Amino acid sequence: RIVYVNGDWVPEAEAKVSVFDRGFLMADGVYEVTSVLDGKLIDFEGHCLRLDRSLSELEMTNPHSNAEWLAIFREIVAQNGIVDGMVYLQVTRGNPGDRDFAYPAADLPPTVVLFTQSKPGLADSPAAKTGWKVISVEDIRWGRRDIKTVQLLYPSMAKMAAKKAGVDDAWLVEDGFVTEGTSNNAYIVKGNRIITRALSSDILHGITRAAVLRFAAEAQFEVEERNFTIAEAQEADEAFITSASAFVMPVVEIDGAALSGGKVGPVATRMRELYLDEMRRAAL
Ligand code: PLP
Repeated sequence: RIVYVNGDWVPEAEAKVSVFDRGFLMADGVYEVTSVLDGKLIDFEGHCLRLDRSLSELEMTNPHSNAEWLAIFREIVAQNGIVDGMVYLQVTRGNPGDRDFAYPAADLPPTVVLFTQSKPGLADSPAAKTGWKVISVEDIRWGRRDIKTVQLLYPSMAKMAAKKAGVDDAWLVEDGFVTEGTSNNAYIVKGNRIITRALSSDILHGITRAAVLRFAAEAQFEVEERNFTIAEAQEADEAFITSASAFVMPVVEIDGAALSGGKVGPVATRMRELYLDEMRRAAL
């Protein structure tokens, strides 16, 4: 693979970042994962908007315009011949040359890294036909989950708890209410209503979430942005999750309780089709 490091295109084995980089020492950085379908970028503008917000919340300067980012993204897709897969982008505060809790001067150049992952048939994942099973675990992450930082240790622990339990993911629960999945936003369906937690610093503002809620409203579903419990989810008609890499993924079991007879339901299926159709059409 060819990876991008601070303006250079290098074979992955030759890519280097300093041990003093604040991304490495302090998880002081942000990231974006953008899907590629048929060689095109899915919801590129959504990712740019959120990247800019994450950086500004951390008082970092966006090193590139959206047009420059687009050129870099397209170049890395082309260099690696990606048809279906993803582009990973990470921007950290850079290397101040020593370890210090205080932020270095604002003019320190950030460290920018991009790489690709090839995932042939990404949109035809067999899991979308059978659905995911999830367990619930306590959400003990920090209080600024709306910033897409690279500090992903607790989500990794929760994912491992799910794997050990023989399921696909964990839903995080705080004060009795579901916040989101380890790396996705969580939804339940009751009749014609699609219910998901409202935006706040408790959850990541998923760009797939924004698109799916827009398409759901256009398709005459009622959208309710509110808290729900695991007990309410277990009683729902359907459940699903959304993320830039899983798109819309049905959830068929929550803490051992089967939803819609343990089968993928019609609303999750419809939303997945709507999302993929619309986003493929608008892909860059
Ligand atoms: N919530 C969390 C905690 C995530 O890590 C992610 C994606 O990585 C999402 C939600 C979904 O966001 P998006 O749809 O922008 O990929």
